[in-house]
Amino acid sequence: GKGKWNGFDERDMLLSYNALKVLEARYLLKNPDTLRYVETPQMMFRRVANFLAKVDTSYGKSEEEVKKIADKFYEIMSSLKFLPNTPTLMNSGTRLGVLSACFVLPVRDSMTTPEGEGIYDTLRAMALVHQQGGGTGFDFSELRPKGDVVASTAGVASGPISFMKIFDVSTDVVKQGGKRRGANMGIMHVWHPDVNDFIKAKTGQLKDAQLQNFNISVGIYDYFMKAVERDEEVPLVNPRKTRVPGSNWDSYMVKARGYMDEEYIQELILKELEEKDAVWLDESSVITLDEAMVIAEKEGAVTSKVNARVIFDEIVKGAWDSGDPGIVFIDEINRRHPINYIGKIQATNPCAEEPLLPWESCNLGSVNLEKFVIEKEGKAIIDWDSLADTIRYAVRMLDNVIDANRYPLKQIEEATKKTRKVGLGVMGFSRLLVRLGIPYDSVDALYVSYNLAKFVYYQAFHASIELAKEKGSFPAYDPVLYRDIFDTARSFNELLEVAKLKGEVSPSVKRLMERAESLDFSQLKGERMIKGLRNSTVMSIAPTGTISIISGTSSGIEPLFALAFIRNVAVGKFMEVDPLFLEYLKRYEMDDPEVVSKIAETGSVAENVFIPRTIRNVFRTAHEVAPEYHLLHQASWQQWNDSGVSKTINLKSEETPETVSKIYMMAWRLGVKGITVYRDKSKSQQVIYFGIKK
Ligand code: UDP
Repeated sequence: GKGKWNGFDERDMLLSYNALKVLEARYLLKNPDTLRYVETPQMMFRRVANFLAKVDTSYGKSEEEVKKIADKFYEIMSSLKFLPNTPTLMNSGTRLGVLSACFVLPVRDSMTTPEGEGIYDTLRAMALVHQQGGGTGFDFSELRPKGDVVASTAGVASGPISFMKIFDVSTDVVKQGGKRRGANMGIMHVWHPDVNDFIKAKTGQLKDAQLQNFNISVGIYDYFMKAVERDEEVPLVNPRKTRVPGSNWDSYMVKARGYMDEEYIQELILKELEEKDAVWLDESSVITLDEAMVIAEKEGAVTSKVNARVIFDEIVKGAWDSGDPGIVFIDEINRRHPINYIGKIQATNPCAEEPLLPWESCNLGSVNLEKFVIEKEGKAIIDWDSLADTIRYAVRMLDNVIDANRYPLKQIEEATKKTRKVGLGVMGFSRLLVRLGIPYDSVDALYVSYNLAKFVYYQAFHASIELAKEKGSFPAYDPVLYRDIFDTARSFNELLEVAKLKGEVSPSVKRLMERAESLDFSQLKGERMIKGLRNSTVMSIAPTGTISIISGTSSGIEPLFALAFIRNVAVGKFMEVDPLFLEYLKRYEMDDPEVVSKIAETGSVAENVFIPRTIRNVFRTAHEVAPEYHLLHQASWQQWNDSGVSKTINLKSEETPETVSKIYMMAWRLGVKGITVYRDKSKSQQVIYFGIKK
């Protein structure tokens, strides 16, 4: 018969073996006394759907309306068209109440502060967030450098890295929700005197040994990249020694670099001067870097000057050697932050898809793009209507998460509810390309990336405008100061030009993407002005490490990792042969067990002359894709995105540091907000190994 039978639901048949393994190990609720399961996957989706829909009761919806919304939420999840991030799946409707994956916590240069932002206040906050499955990001650059004085004890400061080690140990001890290892992002801005030690904190002998629960990234500015290009010196500045307005030398520089209009800057400066009883050295003009330098020097805050290229080369060497440090581009992050009138962003969450203000949190969720490829008259096309409908409900669901969330600290609740950021992302992108027959490393694929991003952003933004009409705008919304990111999106051709990539989009792909290509953003802007906006950001491309397994698709916007591989996750090792690949082999009557096991040895078919060229082209794996294509996909998804993109530029093990250098430089020019490379086999532990034999 149809539907339920003994708790069995045919929707369960959509779940792969690996999906069930993951759900069973970590997501499905158990009775704490007997440890027996009390729910099936469908019951889990129901639990989440009902819990999140209930929020609408407090916005005046009737019981019947709430039930309709719950059904829709259940529908998009159980069909695997959309899944919220792990904490929402795990914790909705349970005793634990944290539903977001991403947090940024401030770290001030003090043991503790009245606002609860000192080093040990933050350590406590981190533990509370980890306990329930959230990941945390920090900017450690406000901490005085190693060897600096500590007035209260007449002692010597031990420096930011020593404190990071304490955060690291605490992370080991407090496993996330008892179910996953805590994840952290540690950031140091490039002007900090300890930046050299920071860059080397996870490479060479310290690789696989130190700060194992941290991704680390250097906060880079335009002035720095320009200095690299020109082979010039840059200052290192002691944050404790400058009496500039704002908390440190850095915030001084922000005002200098034109994020805010001049009048606003002056107003801000005057206000700060009043509060801090400080002296402004040049009231009449906006501060330039040179002027800032003069002031910092007068204050004795410049500890030394270093050739920017020397620092840059060290960063490159580290990344080549071990994947750390990555880079976050602080200027680009703040330039394209829609509410940059609220404050400056100094840090991101662990995988860098969420640049956030101090204390902000964000909940994520991703649509499974693969599900929207349909067949029409024998041709594979995209079901735009279904995608738009899914996005509409996904955004409502993510917005409801903000209200349903139980926040571990009141500062987090306040900051989050003020800006109401949500992060709609995607997964299954590379499998969508396979189903459309487009190789990942082609201009066609980049065009699909660029326009899909545009479509997803348009729909998500539109949904947030409609929600504002219904439920009100986020409290910090200012219709005039709000910066529409579509005003600053680079054109597709511009991206290709920067990367010096030639090639035409084929007419069939142009036609395929017509619906996205023709969207009218100026009209959307008008609507935002009139109706308001519910969420200060709506998009974010997350790694989807686990939810892509549950959905049985490829992660985020990454290319396929391997056609067969072993995956190491907390609950065990999985051998996987890509089912889509098997499907193709069948189509060509090549699904012979011997052929398959041969392929499994290397994980790839690129060099296999017995495999038809079409298959070899569309099944290019992460290492066969040239780094420029990795980067250009990231840049495409960044243009139509008000947060960030989590992407790893996978490199072959034999790639040189020069490649990394070129990629980092190009990343800055393409306007991505951050960049991470990972060279195969550069660490002893990695999540995914290629090929079965290794
Ligand atoms: N995250 C975390 N611990 C983990 C994996 C992820 O704290 O072990 C956080 C981190 O902030 C990351 C975000 O969750 O950036 C999203 O990761 P992902 O998309 O892989 O999560 P999923 O929802 O698929 O589990």
